[in-house]
Amino acid sequence: MTGQEFFRDTQETIRAAVAKLGHSEGVYKVLRNPRRTLEVHIAVTMPDGSVETFLGYRSQHAAVFGPYKGGIRFHPSVTKEEVEALAMLMTLKNAVLGLPYGGAKGGVICDPNALPLSVVEQIARGYVRGLRDMIGPETDIPAPDVNTNARVMGWMLDEYLKSTNAINFSVFTGKSLNLGGIEGRAGATGLGIAYVTREACKVRGVELKGARVAIQGFGNVGRGVAHAITSLGAKVVAVTDITGGVYREEGLDVAKLTEYVQAHGGVAGFPGVEPLTNEQLFALPVDVLIPAALEGQITAPVAEQIKAPIVVEGANGPTTPEGAQVLADRGIMHVPDILANGGGVTVSYFEWVQGQQGGLRWSAETVHRQLDTYMTEAFAAVRAYSQRYNVSMREGAYLYAVDRLATGMIERGWVPS
Ligand code: GLU
Repeated sequence: MTGQEFFRDTQETIRAAVAKLGHSEGVYKVLRNPRRTLEVHIAVTMPDGSVETFLGYRSQHAAVFGPYKGGIRFHPSVTKEEVEALAMLMTLKNAVLGLPYGGAKGGVICDPNALPLSVVEQIARGYVRGLRDMIGPETDIPAPDVNTNARVMGWMLDEYLKSTNAINFSVFTGKSLNLGGIEGRAGATGLGIAYVTREACKVRGVELKGARVAIQGFGNVGRGVAHAITSLGAKVVAVTDITGGVYREEGLDVAKLTEYVQAHGGVAGFPGVEPLTNEQLFALPVDVLIPAALEGQITAPVAEQIKAPIVVEGANGPTTPEGAQVLADRGIMHVPDILANGGGVTVSYFEWVQGQQGGLRWSAETVHRQLDTYMTEAFAAVRAYSQRYNVSMREGAYLYAVDRLATGMIERGWVPS
């Protein structure tokens, strides 16, 4: 799927939600495009002394409820339209979770896994110098996304503080604990997915204890959800990533698999398991399927093959609209990205609050308890919309988000009621 297709699909999903809710066309007009997107060329000195440039973007979508918020990804397939679509999804996600934020997203076209660390650091710093005027603790607060982490946030924070003479560390979230991060941020997206999976299992009458789970992707999100869901008593039987896939009927040892991936760069070759392709993973007769890689994975033909009664989206935009229609027609419970993976930005919000309160520390237990409350309440709100309109959980989430945004826009006088 191209970035343009992803952008158009996201626009169309929002348009359909506005129409179904009976809101005015003005609501769609405000939401159909980002407010602004900055393009930045980043010049970097390579180890051999030559100069290379990398292209990056930061897109701010709609700030109905507060400052813009969303992650920054480093990936070769980044495009302007992809970043813009992801910014739209952040607006919707923040609305579903009830966070006081608008949506934003950033991306740099590069493959950090194939570049020396010194180059990745220069990219991170150059990117921030390019967009320093548009971000800030009360304007736009970036965070990690695909292939970025607390280390990258450390460089970015440092560059921002130096180049603006600022002292407020709350301009970034997903920082290390030492730099004002919060307990549990690294595993927050995975933990949030585990909590909504628990809620979905309750609704579907599936026993979470012993439930069989298949996960596509073993990066920040896939790994986090594998740990979290195992700690809630489920069994991860299959995992795939870019290197291959692994299957074990009795359940994989997630801790050992994590160690293996850290040492070998991927799941392929992990001992004592059967190999598995992505195609096979989607067709497994498991209880829960979690796509936690990139967008556009569950197309209509893939959706036809799915046997799991519950699909929970760990990645952003992993299902195409046609794929979503097939899942809905087949009665599969489809918990969408803007609800399921909202745990990351929710704990980012806690980190931001912690920073704005002068660094007053939250305990891990408080973070987990509050995250559970936010995820469980968002799940219930989305379910209420899906029942009221007699639609899937996916559509219910879009309806809920767009309704909240439309109401906010009316209250602020952006559109007539
Ligand atoms: N990148 C994450 C997301 O897509 C987290 C964003 C944030 O913490 O601001 O939701």
